[in-house]
Amino acid sequence: MKIICVGRNYAEHIKELQNEKPAEPLLFIKPDSAVLPNKNPLVLPDFAQDFHFEVELVIKINKLGKYIETQFAHRYYDEIGLGIDITARDLQARLKAKGLPWEKAKAFDNSAVVSREFISKTDFPDLQNIRFSLKKNDTIVQQGHTAKMLWQIDELISYISRYFTLKKGDLIFTGTPSGVGKIQLNDVFTGYIEGKEMFRIKVK
Ligand code: ZN
Repeated sequence: MKIICVGRNYAEHIKELQNEKPAEPLLFIKPDSAVLPNKNPLVLPDFAQDFHFEVELVIKINKLGKYIETQFAHRYYDEIGLGIDITARDLQARLKAKGLPWEKAKAFDNSAVVSREFISKTDFPDLQNIRFSLKKNDTIVQQGHTAKMLWQIDELISYISRYFTLKKGDLIFTGTPSGVGKIQLNDVFTGYIEGKEMFRIKVK
């Protein structure tokens, strides 16, 4: 199982990091060892100082596919969950400045929070009208709306499958909306899709 992450899929988040809007989706991969086991607290590693949360809608692939056309992409997933793409922002900035790959800043152990439960996509009347959010302690820090994605879910699946064969169980992190910020010791992060609690993670 692998995680394919989409970077810069919401215009406001591109602005807050002062990045350029890409002409095509930006992709990177996290290995299966990046998944934080459910029930485990998040323990921040010692190789960076500035860890950021990025809440993202997560798509679970349900069958093998390659070169999937956008119009058929909906057949490749049944369920939608929520996750946090944990990013070592200071390390990422150093790697970016040197033009080096991001893996150490993005794909390290426990850098992917994934909700235990997923929601059937048939529970949503419109996949382009899903709202999700992240609470840090008692404050809502990020609010996302799939209508504001630069590339919609089906377009992402089609694009990704040109490069990476999608397999049953693979996860797609669809990009973060604005509001990313620092993770601190003892923070509690709670994620919601349409008001339903999807995960609760403690930082230790
Ligand atoms: Zn991300």
